[in-house]
Amino acid sequence: MANKTNRWNSSYLTYPIVVCKLNKLKENLVALKERCHIFNVDIAGVIKGFNGIPEIAEVFSKEFYYIASSRLEHLKVLKEKNFSNPLMCIRISMPYELEELVDICDISLQSDPYVISLINKAAERAGKKHDIILMADLGDLREGFWDKNSLIDEAEKIEKEYKNLHLKGIGTNLGCYGSIKATPEKLEELVAIGEKVEERIGRKLEIISGGASSSLLTLFENKWPKRINQLRIGEGLLMGLETWDLKEDFLNDDCFILKTQVVEVEMKPSFPVGERGVDAFGNVVEYEDIGIHKRAIVAIGKLDYGNDPFSLTPLDEDIKILGASSDHTLLDVSHAKEDIKVGDIVEFKIPYSNLIYLTNTNTVRVVVE
Ligand SMILES: *Cc1c(COP(=O)(O)O)cnc(C)c1O
Repeated sequence: MANKTNRWNSSYLTYPIVVCKLNKLKENLVALKERCHIFNVDIAGVIKGFNGIPEIAEVFSKEFYYIASSRLEHLKVLKEKNFSNPLMCIRISMPYELEELVDICDISLQSDPYVISLINKAAERAGKKHDIILMADLGDLREGFWDKNSLIDEAEKIEKEYKNLHLKGIGTNLGCYGSIKATPEKLEELVAIGEKVEERIGRKLEIISGGASSSLLTLFENKWPKRINQLRIGEGLLMGLETWDLKEDFLNDDCFILKTQVVEVEMKPSFPVGERGVDAFGNVVEYEDIGIHKRAIVAIGKLDYGNDPFSLTPLDEDIKILGASSDHTLLDVSHAKEDIKVGDIVEFKIPYSNLIYLTNTNTVRVVVE
């Protein structure tokens, strides 16, 4: 288990804190669920973005049928807590983890014939039936069968030979590695593959899984292919769709707020003084000279939120992020709305790319309210 300590329920008042506002999050879940239902699309709720924290996953479990994660560790915790939803593993499996896969999950995305044969054996040993979604690669070049005939052959094999597997459907992933958009044409391609599979196995597929949050753009444009009836959604539920330049006013983008504590406030120049080499990470950095100004340091850094401090957004938009090292984030607070002092708390909106780190480190406390 990754979470040895119950760090999201510590009784000490410590910083930094990520606050998850469950009511706002729930509004997003309900809003997107309703939008998707107009198109007959069910959402599989993806919990990997907040490290599967059970208190948050519980809200997902009330709104969605499938709960999904790329990590068995996340799903295992929910299984141990007796969540009743079927659990879906959305990272194609490592051969070593198949015993756990069939034990924990009811359904998984797969793309490799050898692994699929091993899952059948593992499921047989466990006396279970495991559902499979076969993945097709439509050009994003991450997981999935490239040769669509091989996919159809594999579908037939699952249907006819593998007694402990059930072919639930097919799926794809777009907008991840190759940045390929989930256009109506791409999604129609997926439907066409699905129909060929159906022709071969002589029955309808229950699920055609049309991707992740990035696919929502096509849905909102009303260009949704009828047969696609599932999306696996994480980011869109957690923070809306700003990543895709879609500012949907019915989605909250402030469900997660980072609170940090100020440890130094000083008047200093913005331009480093002395002979310059490289920064803490070996980078040559350009500095702007705006003269002496009021700077603050908050006790959080790249170790906590990953490599990019500039993706954080201070709630006070007059505070400017200057940079960060592993453990310190530097702020220009000369125009801040409040007179910032040591001990003050500075708050930030967190994008997905920082949230995945912040919820996965024991140096940050996650508080659910
Ligand atoms: C992470 C992931 C998703 C969810 O992606 P979001 O962009 O967070 O909606 C869906 N499918 C797969 C296979 C994933 O790995």
